[in-house]
Order: sequence, then C-alpha cells, then structure tokens
Amino acid sequence: MIIPLQPTGKAADAPDLARAPAEFYRQPGPAHDSFGRRINYLRISLTDRCNFRCVYCMPEHGAHFAPRDELLTDAELLRVVRAAAQVGFEKIRLTGGEPTIRRNLLAIVAGIAATPGIREISMTTNGLRLAELAQPLRDAGLTRVNVSIDTLDPDKFRRITRGGDFARVWAGIQAAERAGLTPIKLNTVVVRGYNDEDVVALARLTLERPWQLRFIEMMPLAGVGELAEQSVVPSAEIIARLEQVYGPLQFVGWFGSDPARTYRLPGAVGTLGFISSISEPFCATCNRMRLTADGKLHLCLLRDNELDLRAALRGGASDEDLAALIRQAVWLKPWGHGLPEGIKPTLRGMSELGG
Ligand code: SAM
Ligand code: SF4
Repeated sequence: MIIPLQPTGKAADAPDLARAPAEFYRQPGPAHDSFGRRINYLRISLTDRCNFRCVYCMPEHGAHFAPRDELLTDAELLRVVRAAAQVGFEKIRLTGGEPTIRRNLLAIVAGIAATPGIREISMTTNGLRLAELAQPLRDAGLTRVNVSIDTLDPDKFRRITRGGDFARVWAGIQAAERAGLTPIKLNTVVVRGYNDEDVVALARLTLERPWQLRFIEMMPLAGVGELAEQSVVPSAEIIARLEQVYGPLQFVGWFGSDPARTYRLPGAVGTLGFISSISEPFCATCNRMRLTADGKLHLCLLRDNELDLRAALRGGASDEDLAALIRQAVWLKPWGHGLPEGIKPTLRGMSELGG
C-alpha cells in the first residue's frame, strides 16, 4: 500500500513522481533524491516543547504545541528509524524542541542504537539537563552532542534564552566531555544586537580545548522571520571580526556533507565552524531529512514540503510500505531553498524542526 503524498505546504520543485508506480519506490539499495544526492541522515525532533524560549527560535508567549496524541509514540518512532535504516539511513540526530525533556529518552536512544544499519546517534541540546544525563546517554548508545550556547555572559545568556541558567549549561558541557560524547561541538546563532560581539570570547574557547565552535547564520523560520530580516550576521563579518583580534584564520576544510566550513585560530587546539545557510547555501551537499515530533517527513529545512508518515503508521502501513514512503520522500526532496526568490518557510518554527 502506498499512501499518496500529502504535502502540507507548497508544491515540491522536484519532478512530480508522487504518482509513480509503487514499484519505483520499492527498488533495493540506498535512497537517492532526483538530483542524485544520497540521503542518509535523519534528524528527529523528539518534542516541539522546550524549557527555553530563545529569541531566534520561539516566541516568548503563545507558542503552539502539538497535542500529545498527535506526537509519534516511542514505538512509532522506532518503526520509522528501522524503515529509514532499510533504505540506507545511517546517521540519526535527536533534536527538538529540547530532546532531553522527552519521556523515555534513554530507552529511545537504546532502541535506535540497537537498530541494524544505524552507525551514529548524536543529539543537539540546550544542555540544561546534560549534567545529569550525559553519562546515562552515553551508556544508552549516544555517540556525541552539540550544545547550543550563544554567549559566555550569564546575564546575556538569560536574556537570549529568556530565562536559561548558564552555569548549568556549562556544567552540562563539561559532563558531556567527561562522558566521552566527543568531539564536543557548540552551536552559536549569531544575532545582531544580541551576541555579535560575543563571538570573540566564544572563539577563544578553542585555543585550549579540542571543541568545535560553530557560528550559525540566523534563518527566517516561522515566528522569527522579522527578527531574522534585521539581524543576520554574515559569516564573512564574523571572520573579519575574529581576524582583527586573533590574526588570519587558517582554513581547515569543508568536509563532505558537513554544512560548516572549518577554520582554526592561530595556534588553537580546537576549530571554528561557519554555517552560512543564508550568505553561502550548501544545498548541493545536503544529505539530510527531518522527522517532526508529529510524524511528518520535512524535506528541506527552509521549505514547507512534508510527507505524512504518521497517517501511514496509524493507517496500517507495513514496514515495506513505510520504507517505500521514506524513499518517495527522499526522491521528492527539493533542490535548494527559495530564499533568494523570496520564498520563505511559513508553516513551522525551528523548535518544531530541530535545526
Ligand atoms: N533545543 C535544542 C538546542 O537548542 O540545541 C535543540 C533544538 S534547536 C531548534 C537546534 C539548533 O537550532 C540549535 O543549535 C539552535 O541554536 C538552532 N536554531 C534555532 N533557531 C534558529 C534560527 N532561527 N536560525 C538558525 N539556527 C537556529
Ligand atoms: Fe529551545 Fe533550542 Fe529553540 Fe532555544 S533553540 S528555544 S533551546 S528549541
């Protein structure tokens, strides 16, 4: 049984093969999209809820959350992972909302780790619960973490996250390192007027620590489009600011499907990553898709196209049907985002998509 594509956004740019014969999506081998990109990385949003309200991600009040019965259950989620592994997905990232507030998190991680074909499970977290969870997560099979941290100034941190406790997050990062959730990567969304000056102190962390500090250009997801329009700080500007203080950065590389271009401060142990989704998009090497907490495969972060897996799961789809649907979603993945043509995502905020 193939359930017809149910786009909830604008039509995909990819050739419309939604009505292709079912056999087309049941061929063996790893899934490729219609542009030849191998898609093997699934980012799973475990919840759309969060214990922070970062200015670049969520509104302060009145955020909309999916009702619980619309969220995938643990068993449904693990079925999707198994089906994704069948069509060649090898890497999973758990995200959110805040993934560490999902009930049964450790059992979910263990279930994914036990799925044949999955060779890496990472997590993006705000770090607030990491001090107590790092070692149990490692024991359950998590391989590494990215922790979001936008400044080293506790007052500013509270302002940007609207209430976050810097000391707890810092303790969480250290616990993650002790637990071996390495290499540690720290994500910083640079927002003009909030933390554009803080990049200097954040970059300094890499002088003596083997961490990667990743500077991310703010993206105009639903709910924060206006702020993004005024506040994107292009990577080139951050690099110029850092070079004024530290001297010329050394280019290390741009590796495979990693969206970050990697540099090093002179003499540093760790590295800097620049994720320039707005000023220099990297769609040609995209290898990823997203699963929302309410069970939609989201085909491109900056577009609205989705395919409804929850309907299939609850409509009696077999494992083979699910695998075929995931292969179909991969095939229909659009080429690139439409920001240069003024097409902006309108349906979901970043807290639903997981970054
Ligand atoms: N709550 C977790 C966290 O903050 O790490 C995971 C979810 S969060 C949505 C995933 C990543 O998206 C974080 O690194 C966050 O900084 C980033 N992010 C959130 N809103 C963004 C935006 N508008 N543009 C670019 N990155 C954003
Ligand atoms: Fe929550 Fe992460 Fe969004 Fe901040 S970036 S509000 S921590 S989901």
